[in-house]
Amino acid sequence: MADILIAGGGIGGLAAALGIADRGHRVTVLERRDGFTELGAGIQLGPNAFHALDLLGVGAQVRARAVYIDELRFMDGTTDERIASMPLTGDYRARFGNPYAVVQRSDVYEPLLAGCRAHPLVELRGNSPVLAYENAGHGPVGVTAVLAGGERITGDALIGADGIRSAVRRQLVGDGDPRVSGHTIYRSVIPMELVPEELRWNTVTLWAGPKWHFVHYPIGGGAHLNLAATRDDAAREAVVGEPTPREHVLNEFPELGDIARRLLELGRDWKAWVLCDRDPVGVWTDGRVALLGDAAHPMLQYAAQGACQALEDAVVIADALDCPADDFVQRLEKYSAERRERTAETQLVAREMGRRLFHPAGEGARERNAMLSALSAEDMYDKVAWLHGERLRGKESAEKC
Ligand SMILES: Cc1cc2nc3c(=O)[nH]c(=O)nc-3n(C[C@H](O)[C@H](O)[C@H](O)COP(=O)(O)OP(=O)(O)OC[C@H]3O[C@@H](n4cnc5c(N)ncnc54)[C@H](O)[C@@H]3O)c2cc1C
Repeated sequence: MADILIAGGGIGGLAAALGIADRGHRVTVLERRDGFTELGAGIQLGPNAFHALDLLGVGAQVRARAVYIDELRFMDGTTDERIASMPLTGDYRARFGNPYAVVQRSDVYEPLLAGCRAHPLVELRGNSPVLAYENAGHGPVGVTAVLAGGERITGDALIGADGIRSAVRRQLVGDGDPRVSGHTIYRSVIPMELVPEELRWNTVTLWAGPKWHFVHYPIGGGAHLNLAATRDDAAREAVVGEPTPREHVLNEFPELGDIARRLLELGRDWKAWVLCDRDPVGVWTDGRVALLGDAAHPMLQYAAQGACQALEDAVVIADALDCPADDFVQRLEKYSAERRERTAETQLVAREMGRRLFHPAGEGARERNAMLSALSAEDMYDKVAWLHGERLRGKESAEKC
């Protein structure tokens, strides 16, 4: 039995803790905040995330809280014209073996947290910001996490799951602050009773306009509507959760069609974030230290895959560490080799989706509409198969040391 340290108790850190403890190692999760919580805003989960959640033993709990939507719908937000729809029922589920669903972030987080709390090999420590690590190198000795108060904790491996501004990454990769995308996202969650009946669709709907798009879907068992409106406004500074007046948000979205405007006008208590990501990098490990989730591959949310990829990372790293501590350096390298290419591609595709699909104006928008409306459901399934169709092996069939 080895001692594994995990910096960061977000979705990625807790998922990794559960998977690794399940392989018989002791895990200590070092979380910067005093408690272990996640906010209630919505996220989309592809079938690849459900597959990973099943392998982590919490798939059933997340399924019980999810809203199963019928299709992903793409609308021209300036004309209210429906451009394309990807059905997510029958053939989609049969092909990818799992549903596509929307959840509140806490609907994923709480089952992972409950699993960690119930596991005798997991210790959860709040108020434990990791500042740095000291790596003893490639020998049989361990790695030390240095906490903000000066405390030092030694283990056999350290996983940096400490998010987009990861302290572990700062030391391991040294690529500075994340890239500010120049896109501001305004988010609002409203009670469904405020939404007119004829606009209550069981879909993830995306409305695209010149240098903007917005997405909405039901969450919380259909009790709320999640609205996320993004503006390509060349913002230069990162912003996190800044309350924003409704009039400001509406002014940021010009040329809205009638239905698109009615939907956006439903938003209340808007908060703004300026989105950041990073370029993919080729190095995620340093001896007995590895990165995971947003610390390794932060991406724009346009492919709705950041958390899904963190869950996949967790399964792969748990399988990789199903071995004695002596082998950890090679096994962490194997984990990162298995994950780097796929996550890099997802990071780049997410950026491209914003530029090529969601934000073009004029002729570019007409070309996009023509291209998307010509696709059959089967064509669309083929396009997402590399992302949604991933089926990891899990511990029963993973290659052992
Ligand atoms: C607007 C928006 C919409 C999104 N929509 C989707 C979606 O639809 N589908 C999807 O799959 N993904 C989506 N994502 C992405 C998803 O939220 C992230 O990819 C995911 O939360 C990453 O999880 P993580 O655990 O790696 O990082 P985080 O969730 O950032 O967790 C990191 C944890 O580490 C802690 N921490 C930070 N620094 C330290 C430190 N030095 N020491 C100790 N602890 C530390 C933090 O407090 C936090 O608890 C979206 C993201 C955004 C911004």
